[in-house]
Amino acid sequence: MSNVTVCVRFRPLSSKEKKDLGDNICIQSMDSETVIIKDEKEEGFAFSFDKVFYEESKQADVYEFLVLPIVRDTVNSINGTIITYGQTGAGKTYSMEGPNILESDEKKKGILPRVVDGLFACIKTSADSTKYTVKLSMVEIYMERVRDLFDLSKDNIQIKESKTQGIVLSGATEISLSDTAEALQSLSSGIANRAIGETQMNMASSRSHCVYMFTLNQESISEKRVKSGKLILVDLAGSEKVEKTGAEGRVLEEAKTINKSLSALGNVINALTCGSPAKANHIPYRDSKLTRMLQDALGGNSRTALLCCCSPSHSNASESLSTLRFGARAKHIKTSPLVKVSEEKCSKKNGDASGTRDESFEKILEKMSERLNDEDIKLLEELFIQAGLFVDPDSEEDLESAIQDVVQQTISSLMKAVEELRSTVEMLQRENNAMKGRLAVAERCDALPGENADFLQKIFGFLSSFIPGM
Ligand code: ADP
Ligand code: MG
Repeated sequence: MSNVTVCVRFRPLSSKEKKDLGDNICIQSMDSETVIIKDEKEEGFAFSFDKVFYEESKQADVYEFLVLPIVRDTVNSINGTIITYGQTGAGKTYSMEGPNILESDEKKKGILPRVVDGLFACIKTSADSTKYTVKLSMVEIYMERVRDLFDLSKDNIQIKESKTQGIVLSGATEISLSDTAEALQSLSSGIANRAIGETQMNMASSRSHCVYMFTLNQESISEKRVKSGKLILVDLAGSEKVEKTGAEGRVLEEAKTINKSLSALGNVINALTCGSPAKANHIPYRDSKLTRMLQDALGGNSRTALLCCCSPSHSNASESLSTLRFGARAKHIKTSPLVKVSEEKCSKKNGDASGTRDESFEKILEKMSERLNDEDIKLLEELFIQAGLFVDPDSEEDLESAIQDVVQQTISSLMKAVEELRSTVEMLQRENNAMKGRLAVAERCDALPGENADFLQKIFGFLSSFIPGM
């Protein structure tokens, strides 16, 4: 079991922050792991993380400490996840992409282009007997819908759990990447699709989560096995508390969904860090698309790193403090990374019977798909399902998943109801005790003569109408 690696990065003060408050900052560096932050009341809070990157830190420092070990693991078929968290403008996208995904300045390049370089460099140095394929999917979670950034017509991708592959994005486009240049072009086109949304949806990028998913398959000819590693990078929506006053319509809905998914992430982290090891507690992964997508990363067989991005300015002290608290909480999650080896044989390389059969099937299917239209393909699929040749992908697994959803949601709402009942009981107990106290006073005053006694008698009469048997 290993903890999630949590680092904090403070970006330099922006020109606006400098103009408003000068060079004043709300943080004080203790060392490369501990930072003190002062809130609006000048109260100091110390936080320790795996590493604190201060304003002058370099993109390469962040990559080498936080990301490179995970990239190496992915090549060894251990799944990895890297998440950037923080308020809008704190430096999440700068850390993830750099000033621009196609940035050629070696110093300014962000995590993503370095990951691409790292993956292809590891592949180059590996044994000749291993064949690698790298694939990339890019999706955006906006208003609880998962959009395919490589095919905007797929605007409601379903998240499913497969017994062999874990959490998968069902039907999301996967682009095969053969080298760094191709990877950067694909990333750039996905990001451009996100940017189109940005103008249409009023700064959607700060209101949506962007997920980059690299899959690395390795066919080992000598061992006749296929291994695969998944590397997920997530640029989260801004974590700032959205001002609800005056917000209405879509803006209000956006605010609610961002709060919902980020608080679902917080709840999952709480559940993972608060539960006693002896008692398996309920982890509410299914409360949002984001937590469902990160289920493997947070609770399963994945190596996970969190980069909490903050502004060092006094004007953002309360948001930075809440980001640091989130990171401190996440530090206590434990995950257990595993290597996933597929039982499949490297059929094509072996040239065995199933290999040639698969190849010829593929050729026939390719030819057919050129000739048939979508309607014909749907009819054929239906025919095959009826004849029992295909298993309807939407049937059994979907049903099981839907049942699990309902069960988990019911558990969540039952737990909430129990919590509410508990606080109602506590409140009633407090009221009861207060009444008992008042009664005792009334009884003591009963003996008193004059106006006081009359008045207290009245109160006593009033109270007895509420408490039977008095
Ligand atoms: P977020 O994605 O968290 O909303 P951005 O990454 O877009 O924030 O950063 C906001 C601004 O701050 C951008 O103009 C970006 O170039 C700048 N910035 C962020 N981090 C750094 C950094 N480490 N060094 C220099 N500029 C940065
Ligand atoms: Mg951003």
